Amino acid sequence: MEEREPTVRVTVDSDGGPAVLVAAREAAEGSAVREVGPTGITALSPLVLATLGDSTAFHANCTPERAVAIVESLDAGDLPTEGAYAIVEHGTISDLPIPASGPLAVGGRRVLGRCGWAEPTAAPPEEIADRPDEVFETVRKTGLLGRGRGDAAADAPVAEQWVRARETAGEPVVVVNGNEADPGAAMDRTLLEGAPAEVLDAALAVAAAVGEAVPVDVVVYLNEADELARERVAAAAAALGAAIDVVVGPDLFIAGEPTMALEAMEGADRLEARLRPPGPAEYGLFGRPTVVHTPRTFAQGREAVLHGVGFDAADPGTRLVTVTGDVRAPATVEVPTGRPLSDALAAVGDPAFKMAGVGGRFGGLTRRLDVPASAPALAAAGLGTEGVVELFDDSRCAVAMAGHRARFAREENCGRCVPCREGSTQLHELLRDVYGGRYEDAKLRELCRVMGATSVCDFGRAAARPVLTAMDEFEAEFRAHADGRCPTGECEVRP
Ligand code: SF4
Repeated sequence: MEEREPTVRVTVDSDGGPAVLVAAREAAEGSAVREVGPTGITALSPLVLATLGDSTAFHANCTPERAVAIVESLDAGDLPTEGAYAIVEHGTISDLPIPASGPLAVGGRRVLGRCGWAEPTAAPPEEIADRPDEVFETVRKTGLLGRGRGDAAADAPVAEQWVRARETAGEPVVVVNGNEADPGAAMDRTLLEGAPAEVLDAALAVAAAVGEAVPVDVVVYLNEADELARERVAAAAAALGAAIDVVVGPDLFIAGEPTMALEAMEGADRLEARLRPPGPAEYGLFGRPTVVHTPRTFAQGREAVLHGVGFDAADPGTRLVTVTGDVRAPATVEVPTGRPLSDALAAVGDPAFKMAGVGGRFGGLTRRLDVPASAPALAAAGLGTEGVVELFDDSRCAVAMAGHRARFAREENCGRCVPCREGSTQLHELLRDVYGGRYEDAKLRELCRVMGATSVCDFGRAAARPVLTAMDEFEAEFRAHADGRCPTGECEVRP
């Protein structure tokens, strides 16, 4: 629990905040000034929280000058309410108090609870690292699924990976795969910048559960651009008294795929996905049995142990969702799996949109977000489960969007397997043909099917999804392009 001295908290994340923190620290005479991580709501940053007794005043988009005025007010014994966008009354707490309305009130804040409130480099108030049996049993019984494309158990029961790693001969290792490397995604980054000690605490618990009697290494894998996350992970490991390695990989989309992450960690010059089986649990980092999860998965496991999980029985827990695209500022919020994805939109002001890309770079394009946020429901709707929702307004063309994603697949695939390497080239060319007057619906669909069914890794299996879903939802736009007309006016089409 937090102490009750007058306290100013300043959010500092990879988008900013240090100047406000410095100004607050220099001005403070009696109040404590703490550096905290992101809340996930970038429209509020830098956010300054002033706490006096049982009240916290929320000041959004603070300048250094305003931070000084807030600190001076608190030092004088007054809660700075002028200009505050919310005042919240609360008791002694260890998580961010939630305003009654506004973006921080959207969804629920369970794994995000400490983000924006706790000092990210301090140990959590309650640790689970020394409760491995309880962690294993809780996660196994609840059937927790892995979160995110960087997870070796993505949308599959994580406990099965632990059992496999435990039963495989060799020295196990636990990898926290924090390499999101997708410009739209901020789910794992929010956790690693905002609550890294909680993620590491859970990873240490999994290591103890997998290793039983033997010590198990924990390695955090980040991309080279994640400097703040790297610093905070190292500091959080020190606060936990744990020896945790941090390894940096390239800032490439493919480098987040679990087996390419292992290749990068081993120092490979050229990243290629590994054939499976055997999966990482049997043959992982340097051939050792390896559990690979995203920070999101570890955080959900911790939450399951401390507070239990509920919501959708087929996908217990919550899903972190970053809403981005044609919005004023992206927001990362937490949606219970039984709730529709559309709940997240309130965090960005419920904008009107023409289409949404659900699931990141290779997510599905759709007009509707009334789909539950659980993995089975999203997959059944043909959408991705990655947790990124990109909103696109009326000026965006569905054919162009599908084309951009196909070109990305063509340029960024690792080249290992034919269905993805050659398939993405053909896919891109067939889409270019649409602009030349030839829309081959059946041929495109068959190509998408083959890529999805036969590619070696999730990159190729998902790469055709934007095209397929765009054809399903926006067929009229494809036909209009073949007739020499772009309905939105975004594309130059040969008449
Ligand atoms: S699916 Fe694509 S990225 Fe994955 S192994 Fe095949 S070529 Fe490489």
